[in-house]
Amino acid sequence: MKTLKILHMYADMLDLYGDSGNMEIIEYRCKMRGIGCEIYRYSVDSEMPDFSLYDLIYIGGGADLEQQHIADDLLKCRNGIEKAYKEGVFLFLICGGYQLMGKYYRDADGNKIPGLGLFDYYTVAPESRKKRCIGNIVIRTEMTGKPVDVVGFENHGGQTRGVKTPFGKVLYGSGNCSKSESEGYFEKNVIATYLHGPCLAKNPEISDYMIAYCMNRGADSLQELASLDDKLEMECRKVMISRLLNKKK
Ligand code: GLN
Repeated sequence: MKTLKILHMYADMLDLYGDSGNMEIIEYRCKMRGIGCEIYRYSVDSEMPDFSLYDLIYIGGGADLEQQHIADDLLKCRNGIEKAYKEGVFLFLICGGYQLMGKYYRDADGNKIPGLGLFDYYTVAPESRKKRCIGNIVIRTEMTGKPVDVVGFENHGGQTRGVKTPFGKVLYGSGNCSKSESEGYFEKNVIATYLHGPCLAKNPEISDYMIAYCMNRGADSLQELASLDDKLEMECRKVMISRLLNKKK
């Protein structure tokens, strides 16, 4: 059986709210199915990898300062990441990582951090640091063609605009901008979202979508995966989602 190869970028700097835990969840869900999973790390000044050799590239979220620290290094990786993405490598991006794949991120002090420009969106933080989107969030996604509600926690100043294909519709919380209707960015091989949590612990469907995609990369359909016992996760989600959706916005 295929072994999944994952490249986790900037784990030492972009790891807000346990974002690195997302890698543990993927590894666990592969292991439970007898699928091999190798996770490699890349950070500032590591040797330039061949990004196309991986099945999935993962970048977590971070504060403005960390985003500035990695920005120049990330730009050096632009061509390799773009080539990999075009060849169908999966990109999984959280918050700060999501912002930096767009055109740019302008922080609260007006510093413009260039993004890789892989996608058309751009992000601007309001001057007032008090105006942040913070709290629990529920969105409705359609990643597998069926509606799947996803729950997480967001904390971002950045307001992301120009997203043509969002990851989900906001049912509770803010999303791409304060009180916006849409959240994140989605393509068949891209999930970019503001959801921390780490979000995969709370949303097994997202992990399985990515694993199924990577196992069958290049094919029209997703690989069928053996089902796992997610009773506990599903019950936790149900409690959290109904608690939030029954509250007034
Ligand atoms: N620094 C960015 C912002 O505030 C990203 C934050 C994050 O990754 N949680 O918008």
